[in-house]
Amino acid sequence: MLKPTTQLVNWIIEKQLPWISYDDRIGRVVVVIDNHLLSTYRQCPAYFMLYAVEGIRPKPTPTAPGVIPVGERREWFLDFGILWHKMMEEYYNPVTGFRSHGFTLQGFAVDTAKRNWDIMQMDKYLNHPECQKIGGFMGFAVLLVGYANMFSKQNERLQWVASEISFGKNREVPIYTYIPQEEQGIWSICDIYLSGRIDLLFDDGTALVPMDHKTLNSFRRDPLARFLVDDGPAGYIFAMQKILPTIVGAELLSRRTCNSILMSLVCKGDPPKGEPPFKRLPIFKSSEALEMYRQRQIATCNNIISDLEQYIRGQQVQRNTTACTNWYFYECPYYDIHRQQSLDAEAKTIHNGFVALPIWNTERMNEEG
Ligand code: SF4
Repeated sequence: MLKPTTQLVNWIIEKQLPWISYDDRIGRVVVVIDNHLLSTYRQCPAYFMLYAVEGIRPKPTPTAPGVIPVGERREWFLDFGILWHKMMEEYYNPVTGFRSHGFTLQGFAVDTAKRNWDIMQMDKYLNHPECQKIGGFMGFAVLLVGYANMFSKQNERLQWVASEISFGKNREVPIYTYIPQEEQGIWSICDIYLSGRIDLLFDDGTALVPMDHKTLNSFRRDPLARFLVDDGPAGYIFAMQKILPTIVGAELLSRRTCNSILMSLVCKGDPPKGEPPFKRLPIFKSSEALEMYRQRQIATCNNIISDLEQYIRGQQVQRNTTACTNWYFYECPYYDIHRQQSLDAEAKTIHNGFVALPIWNTERMNEEG
C-alpha cells in the first residue's frame, strides 16, 4: 500500500481542516467531501487552495445601503437557493405542508414565505438585478404560488418519506476505502466518504425518489441538459442507495428501487415565451453510471492529494484561467491575488483585501442542516 508522505501527514494533523484528516489507527488519510468542494476543485485547483485550504475570503467592503459588496455578490444566488429549499421543505412537510390540515396557499406563499424572507434578510439584495427582475418579495410569493399550482396534481401521488437527510458525518457513504485485495484495481491514497444533504425523499408507488430543486437564471436551450452530466444528481442517487436501509424498513425497500432523482428546475429570469418558469424531470442512473461516478470522485480526490503534496512544499498548483472573469457570472473573488507578479505581492494583496474565515465544513454543514 502506498502511503502519504510524512510531510503531508504532519501538515494535515497541524492544519486541522474540516474535510481532511489522518486516521492514525488505520494509517490512512481520510477525506470527507461534498459535491460543492469536489466541483470547486475541478473548476479551479488554485481557487480550491485559497477557499478550502486557506479559508481566505474578500474583506467585506462598506457600500451604500442596499448595495452588495463585490466579494459577496455571489451570495444572492446561494441565498435565493437556500430560501427556495426552505420553502420546499415547508411545502412538502407532512405536518405543515400542502397535505396538512389548515394549509392555505396564502399562508404558505405569503405569511411563511415573508417570515423566511425576513429571517434571511433578503431585502439587502433589492439592488441586485435579478432580485429586481423577480420583483422582490412579492415576485417571490408569486413564484411560489405558480409552483404549487403547476405541480399540485403530480404531488398528489408523491408520498413523503423523509426530509433533510444529512450524510457524511458518520462516514456512511464510502466512495473508497482501502481493501488490500483491491490494490491492483481502483486505487486511492486516501479513504474517501461523500457528505451532503438530500432535501426530500418520496415514494412514487414504484420507486423511492429523492427530489432536488435548482433555481436557475434562465431556461435557455435545454436547462436539464447540464444536470444529465453533472455529478451532483448522480451523487444523490449514489448516497441514497447507501443510506436507504437507515431510513426505510426492509419490507418497503424490497418493493422499491432507487435509481433516479426528480430534478425540479425554477427559472428566476424570464422563461421562454409561453412556457412556465418550472420544469420537473426524472434523471435515471444505471449501476454502471454510478460506478463511473464513484471512480470520477476518486480521481478528483487523488488529484487533490497530489496537488496538496505540491502546495505544502510551496509549489504552484494549476489555474483555470477561463474562469477568472466569469466565476458564476462575476469576476473571480481571487482575481486581484492572481494578477500579481510575485508571491510577495500576492501576500500583500491577501493581507490588505482578504480575511481568513472558517473553512467550508462538509461535516458540520450536515449536522446543522
Ligand atoms: S483568479 Fe482565476 S486562476 Fe485565480 S482562483 Fe480565480 S479562477 Fe482560479
